[in-house]
Amino acid sequence: MLRIFNDEILNPKNFVVTLELVPGRESFGRTTDTLIGIAKDAFADGRVSAVSITDNPGGNPSLSPDVLGYEIFKHGLDVIVHFTCRDMNRVGMESRALQLARMGMKNILALTGDYSGSGFGGRGAPVFDLDSVLLNAMFKTLSQKLLAWGDPEEFLTGCAVSPFKTTEAECHAQYKKMDKKIEAGASFVVTQLGYNVKKFHELIRHHTANNPKIPVMASVFLLSPRSARAMNRGRVPGAHVSDDLFNRVVLEWKKPRPGLNAAIERAAKLGVILKGLGYRGIHIGGIHRSFKTVGAILDRMEEIEDHWQAYLDEFEGTTPNTGYYVGKQAAFDEKRPVVERMKETMADHIPYRLLKAAHGIFFDKEAMFAPVYKHIARFLETHKKGWILKRGLEDPIKIIFLSCQSCGDCGIAHAAFQCPESGCPKHTRNGPCGGSRNGYCEVYPEKRCIWVRAYDRLKHAHESDTFLKAFVPPRMWELNKTSAWINYHLGKDHQK
Ligand code: SF4
Repeated sequence: MLRIFNDEILNPKNFVVTLELVPGRESFGRTTDTLIGIAKDAFADGRVSAVSITDNPGGNPSLSPDVLGYEIFKHGLDVIVHFTCRDMNRVGMESRALQLARMGMKNILALTGDYSGSGFGGRGAPVFDLDSVLLNAMFKTLSQKLLAWGDPEEFLTGCAVSPFKTTEAECHAQYKKMDKKIEAGASFVVTQLGYNVKKFHELIRHHTANNPKIPVMASVFLLSPRSARAMNRGRVPGAHVSDDLFNRVVLEWKKPRPGLNAAIERAAKLGVILKGLGYRGIHIGGIHRSFKTVGAILDRMEEIEDHWQAYLDEFEGTTPNTGYYVGKQAAFDEKRPVVERMKETMADHIPYRLLKAAHGIFFDKEAMFAPVYKHIARFLETHKKGWILKRGLEDPIKIIFLSCQSCGDCGIAHAAFQCPESGCPKHTRNGPCGGSRNGYCEVYPEKRCIWVRAYDRLKHAHESDTFLKAFVPPRMWELNKTSAWINYHLGKDHQK
């Protein structure tokens, strides 16, 4: 089978178009037939390099992208399989990856994934055994194995990024995490949905300065009142539609035909702007009925692409209260507003300083007393007395300060002394998911995202250079419910 997407996205001369399909909660039926029809028409049209198929979007069960993708793949169109960390542990994920390799479907969009939704009998257990950085690393390792086993083709893994963030911490975190995913093995990037071209510009400037060889595709969505409302109300994690844009969409769709025409026009204009800004392709979403709409967007793009700069004003400022990241790339943002930092709280800074000081004394392998701690740890381990230290000292302290979950492989030092197990519902160890909103958590909107707090803690302590610096390996489940202190000093945990 010809791997069109791989060839096209890795050739810098190409502007690539992919199309996102969203399977339904059915094995046979109208939605599935429609998606296969759209894919067949896309193949016949010839302008779409691949369809990408979502993996239980919103965390709710739907037909597997693997099986739907394989059916489409057999019709001749290339497929990008969305692969999330939500529903399987690392064993299941690796097995699924091997299955996809065997089926020849090696274009992967590696995502943390939305939080768990509802399946049989209620909400599903959220797994999140790996995060998206680790997932990229898993595919890189598997690729090397595939080649060693004699498979001529490795995986082509992509990652997502959301430039549509409003706080300095989130902007910084999104870009840093994207860089980490690329370092871990991602070969292409796809943006989240949004309509603020300043933000699109900001992302491509950051990216060109840091990873010029990795292609970035931007999401372009056919906006209907329903989808605009969901994004405006924050029901699509990471996607943004302002009040103003939402109101415009509702007005446009008072009658369906003009509404659809306006949506096609908006998608085409955004598409040509993105091409003009230097994106290497667009990822079209929101197509549920027929390929004709995609054809109309692409036709219109061909007509207007020379005039892309004329449409910039129609999009600027479409995300309210949005600031622009000013980091080392200050030059490109000098005249734009600086993103807000969230209000700092002593409840953040005091525990940070306390825990950091304690860490420096007790958990630094270069520290003066480190050999003594190691000796004590070995004695406790040999005499099976570790539980005395754990129950008598470690648990009480760590439960009070960190709501410790006793994983035995402590990751607090990578998150400015917060626990990724108790503090982040997705247990991210290498930076935030894309779902935070105005600095608050996708899952618990009343709580600040753990990574926003981490950034603010470090910035306050003039240590923001250390933010998301380390690649943090997966949690070692073999250490669950054991003493993290002993594990650390005996070199049994991930920090060995
Ligand atoms: S704490 Fe942050 S990274 Fe974790 S689920 Fe919430 S928004 Fe995502």
